[in-house]
Parts: sequence; structure tokens; C-alpha cells
Amino acid sequence: MSTLQTVVHWFRLDLRLHDNLALRNAINEAENRKHYLKPIYVIEPDIKNKIGANRLRFLLQSLQDLDVNLRKINSRLFIVKGRAVDLLPELFEKWNVKFLTLQVDIDAELVKQDEIIEKFCEEKDIFVVKRMQHTVYDFNSVIKKNNGGIPLTYQKFLSLVADTQVKDTIEIAKQISDDCKSTDFELEEYKVPSLEEVGINESELLECKYPGGETEGLKRLNIYMNKKQWVCNFEKPNSSPNSIEPSTTVLSPYISHGCLSAKLFYHKLKQVENGMKHTLPPVSLMGQLMWREFYYVAGAGTKNFDKMVGNTVCTQIPWGKNEVHLKAWAEGKTGYPFVDAIMRQLKQEGWIHHLARHMVACFLTRGDLWISWEEGAKVFEDYLLDYDWSLNAGNWMWLSASAFFYKYYRVYSPVAFGKKTDKEGLYIRKYVPELKKYPSEFIYEPWKAPKSVQRTAGCVVGEDYPNRIVDHDKVHKVNIQKMNAAYKVNKEKKALKRKR
Ligand SMILES: Cc1cc2nc3c(=O)[nH]c(=O)nc-3n(C[C@H](O)[C@H](O)[C@H](O)COP(=O)(O)OP(=O)(O)OC[C@H]3O[C@@H](n4cnc5c(N)ncnc54)[C@H](O)[C@@H]3O)c2cc1C
Repeated sequence: MSTLQTVVHWFRLDLRLHDNLALRNAINEAENRKHYLKPIYVIEPDIKNKIGANRLRFLLQSLQDLDVNLRKINSRLFIVKGRAVDLLPELFEKWNVKFLTLQVDIDAELVKQDEIIEKFCEEKDIFVVKRMQHTVYDFNSVIKKNNGGIPLTYQKFLSLVADTQVKDTIEIAKQISDDCKSTDFELEEYKVPSLEEVGINESELLECKYPGGETEGLKRLNIYMNKKQWVCNFEKPNSSPNSIEPSTTVLSPYISHGCLSAKLFYHKLKQVENGMKHTLPPVSLMGQLMWREFYYVAGAGTKNFDKMVGNTVCTQIPWGKNEVHLKAWAEGKTGYPFVDAIMRQLKQEGWIHHLARHMVACFLTRGDLWISWEEGAKVFEDYLLDYDWSLNAGNWMWLSASAFFYKYYRVYSPVAFGKKTDKEGLYIRKYVPELKKYPSEFIYEPWKAPKSVQRTAGCVVGEDYPNRIVDHDKVHKVNIQKMNAAYKVNKEKKALKRKR
């Protein structure tokens, strides 16, 4: 057992050195008191079952990069393995921990876990410092400013933060003293595991398009911030959901894992916009970052935000169950080429454009399949590199017209929507290669192609590519009626509640 005391920084969704105040607090404490410093990351034993393979690869790459960056300042990352609530109390005793720093997260599971750890720390006199550093604004302050409730519209949110000064970000570059190195500093057992070591066969994954880590995140941010005119002209609705290369920044996986600070992104955007004519929220790039802030405030202030039942902002809709349709949707086998291309891109690469997410989320829920947004959110959690508890739930509620957006009668067509930006169907040809040789005329509706055309293209519908699982033209009209009825019931229930 070590006699010296230890300061721990517990990394979770803050996998970076820049703009990491909690980490700097830990370093200062260890330096000033000549204590050991242990920056840790906890890997749960069943991580392979909790995180999809692509995201797990992104996470391990990010941890590897974090270790490299910590070593540059004479420290390292200590990977510890086990369930945090069991493992940390044990380790804190063994290491004689007296000071713990971490960032505030809002994912309901993390909140529960933190309550247990903080209770233990209180009992053992371990001083805990928590910093809010995953968002630009302090979401609790925004809620307080709104008299304790969450802003239900984006414009309301913007008005609440309009005159908030956003603090500067900090850098951590100073060398840490050798005195802070614990006796087990060199131990191999704390190294970042490989994919194989966590049970993933890397050869089964496709090429890595978006490598994880702070270094990559900062590089990507700089590339985009150097394209000043592009940033100033950015209008989200005019970006393409089906371009072969992304038409937006793909900073989301880096921001979600905390490899890139949202606050740094904010300040860089401000610098670019300064003195230039630029687009405005909600469509500008700054507007996109503000959507993130909006959903964070909503998620932080709403109980059961990731569920329909017990969630006060969520309209209760009697969704149906259909395992066969859900599976077909998740695997990109609905028989609608645009929907299938999007779901296959998601599964292969871990990222899809925001409007592509609109398309498939609407299709699964109110548009076509009438399956709960909670089911879709689970599939996204598995596949997305940028999975984020509040953004995923918030956007799914939006798309299913369960919260924040109420024009349920505006449904995306799986045929017409994609054509607007990709008439020839190049995107479909890439991700649904069975249809590669189809004439453009039929690429969005292969079932309409005469059998002879299907045979010449080498793909017969119903044999080489699935038949449509529903008929959009019919089913979306029925679903609009069901939404209408659900809205009525909810309205009546609310009126009754008000009367009581
Ligand atoms: C059903 C559904 C589920 C989603 N789930 C997630 C999720 O789990 N994690 C996630 O990060 N985003 C999610 N989004 C939001 C959005 O699609 C992605 O943030 C965006 O497409 C990421 O690409 P980008 O980095 O190129 O975005 P850009 O357009 O370049 O925007 C820059 C940044 O702004 C933020 N942002 C952009 N759009 C939104 C939005 N609508 N809501 C919140 N933040 C936004 C992201 O941090 C993004 O990186 C979801 C959207 C839908 C419709």
C-alpha cells in the first residue's frame, strides 16, 4: 500500500488535455502537495456488449491518444478495469486517494453511478471537485434563469443565453514534476487495451474513416476553421444528406467523447465570424452548436428524458411493435434504397448526415413503420460514433414529433427526399451495391423497373434485393391519422389535469 496520498482525475466524456479544468485542478493539487497523480479511465468488463464495435474502436483510439498527450507532460493514463462503483472504492483505499476531480455528465446512468461514488468519497473524506465542461453554457444556470423549467423552444433557449459571457478555454502544457509519479507508474497492466483485448476482431471492421482522439479532433477543427468563407456561408438545410463525402464537419464524434471541447469550438467560430458577414442560428454552424446546448439543457432538466413514459416533455403515442420491421430497418433491408443506404452507411462508418438521420428516424416512427423512437434510439446508440445521451433522445423525440416539433403531417418521402440532392443515386449505388447498375430512373424505386430491366441490372427485387416492407404512399396517410388521434388524447388529458 502506498504511503503517499494520491490525487485522481477520472476521465469519462472529457478525453482531452485542452479546456479540461477538472484535470488542471487535479494536477495543481498533486503538484502543490507533492502527491501522486493518477489520471484514470474505467473500462467496464462488459464494454463490448455496451458499446458498438465502431464506437469502441473510436474510444480506444481516443484513450491511446490521451495517454500519448499525458506522457508529453510527464504523466500517463491509468486504465483500470471493473465496474466503477465496485472498483473505485477499492482502488481509492489502496491508493490512499484524498482528492478526486471529474466532469459533470448528465447521462442518467452516469448520474446514478456518480451518486454512489460521491457518497463513498464523503464517508472517506475524499474531496471531490466536479466541473461542468462538456457544454458551452452551464445548463443548471440556464434552467435557473428560466425559473426552474427547461426552455421548450430553441429561440427561448437562445434568449436565455444571449448575454452570457463564455469563459476562455485553458491549456495544459506544463511538465508535471517527477514527484507526482506513483511507484506503479510504469506498470503495463494500466495500458490502453487493444481491440482484440476487449473482444473485438478488428479485421471484421471496415476502414476507419474517423480516427478517435484529441489530436484528430483539433486537426479537424482547424481544417474547418481555416475555411472561413465556408463557415460564414454555412446553412444546414442546404447541406446534402447523401453526398459521398460529408457536407458538414463531422466534429460530432470528437465533441461527444470530449476529445474536442464545445467551448473551444464556440470561441473558434466567434473568431471566424468576427467582422465577416455570416449566417445566423438556427442554420449557421454556431446555430448547430446551439442545438447541442439546447438539448443538453432539456436533457439535464427533464426526468426520464430518454424514455417516453414518465417524461414530461414527451407526447405519449401508442407506438406498435414489429420485430421484423425493426430488424429490416436496422439492417438496411426495408426495400427503400435511400433508407437502406443510410442505415448501411451508419452501420459501416458510424456517422450519417443530420438530414439522413431525419429520413430514417421519420421512416421508423410516424412516417412509415409506427415503431417507438426509443427502439430507434437504441439502434443509433449501438451504431453512432457520436452517440450522446441527450442529443440522441432529444433529436429522436423531435423527429417522431413527440417533443419540440409538432408538424407531424410533414413526412419525409423515402423516394423524393434523396432525389433533391442526388438525382443519379450515386449514394445509393455506393451503399446498396446490389442496385449499382440500375438506371437512374429506377434507383429510388427499383420495384417499378420492368423485370427485364431488373435482370439486366443483375438485381431482381424480391430475390437479390428486398421487396418494400410497407407501401409508403398508403401507410404514411394512415399514420398521420394515428398521430392526429394521439395528439387529441394528449390534449384532452392535459386539459383534464389543468381542471383538477
Ligand atoms: C434521430 C437523431 C439522432 C441524433 N443523435 C445524435 C447523437 O447521438 N449525438 C450527436 O452528436 N448528434 C446527434 N444528432 C444530431 C446531429 O445529427 C449530429 O450532431 C450531426 O449530424 C453531426 O454531424 P456534424 O458534426 O457534421 O454536424 P455539424 O452540422 O457540422 O454541426 C456541428 C456540431 O453541432 C452539433 N449539432 C449539429 N446538429 C445538431 C443537432 N440537431 N442536435 C444537437 N447537436 C447538433 C454537433 O455537436 C455537431 O458536431 C442526432 C440527430 C437525429 C435526427
